[in-house]
Amino acid sequence: MKAIIVTKPFNIQISDVPDPMIQQPDDVIIRVTSGGICGSDIGIWNGTNSLATYPRLIGHEFGGIVEETGPAVTGIKPGDKVAVDPVISCGHCYACRIGRHNVCSSLEVMGVHRDGGFAEYVKAPAQNIHKFHTDFSESLLGLAEPFTIGMQVNNRAQISAADNVLVMGAGPIGITVMEVAKSRGARVMMTDLVPERLEKARSFGADETVLVSEENLEARVGLFTGGEGAPVIVDTVCQPFSFAQAVHLACPAGRIVVLSLKDTPAELIQAEVTKKELSILGSRLNCNCFDEVIDSFENGSLHPEHLMTHTRHFTEIEAALDEICNHPQNVLKTVLHFS
Ligand SMILES: [Zn+2]
Ligand SMILES: [Zn+2]
Repeated sequence: MKAIIVTKPFNIQISDVPDPMIQQPDDVIIRVTSGGICGSDIGIWNGTNSLATYPRLIGHEFGGIVEETGPAVTGIKPGDKVAVDPVISCGHCYACRIGRHNVCSSLEVMGVHRDGGFAEYVKAPAQNIHKFHTDFSESLLGLAEPFTIGMQVNNRAQISAADNVLVMGAGPIGITVMEVAKSRGARVMMTDLVPERLEKARSFGADETVLVSEENLEARVGLFTGGEGAPVIVDTVCQPFSFAQAVHLACPAGRIVVLSLKDTPAELIQAEVTKKELSILGSRLNCNCFDEVIDSFENGSLHPEHLMTHTRHFTEIEAALDEICNHPQNVLKTVLHFS
């Protein structure tokens, strides 16, 4: 079969690799129909993703149609439309024991630490396979994973209808966080430096948007929250300054969710954290969010089609990467087709 392999930074190829075969009784083989290109795929390609090793068959956002199942697999059969959770955990470390396998001490993510889903076929354990119940669009099966990121953020901050949420950054992660928060009834304000991104955010349901290059964010947050400050802030900008700004903008008893994987230290005012008794919450990957995301796609409360701004055949991966890197303001998500 054909697969997209990054052999070393800046070297990406469509290669012939062996077809996956059932080896474990709980293995499932899937014919991939679609996959989303993520910032972390770009990081593996350009050598800035510190977690990646080479050569790597990339892709952690993917879905498709079940081709074959191992003898111990129940509830999944050939022909089922599915999305694959790329998170592989050990099952017995502290995090796994308390039900938080997404931060397993020996975590492996398909497409990052081990081979992923940008291939004509992929193999994954049955427990990582999540079924669609309707005849859902093949192009959108690969977009469950990015929405699980947004759902995990909402779960970490326990976002509900009572909340005014500030989402910093209107890229693909910010959009999925906003859509999940809106589906829970929260009010959401989003920021960005790119007017076109904010226009998209508003058309997808954001209540208010702030162009931070031209507007005073603190003043806007004040107006948005009746002068209180934001009870929930999600930092998808992931820079030292945005983290520090979130600590400043949060109201007393507020929650801040951070998603940065950068090593750079941030300078926080400790007294702000203490005096306001802030909760600072990391959010990584997802913990059991796939089934709820798929249900929400199927009942129309979440919209993967919003995210899919571009599509390409997987053999055009280099053109797709160039497009994302040269025109990042235009692309939310490029979906690769594999048929
Ligand atoms: Zn991703
Ligand atoms: Zn573990």
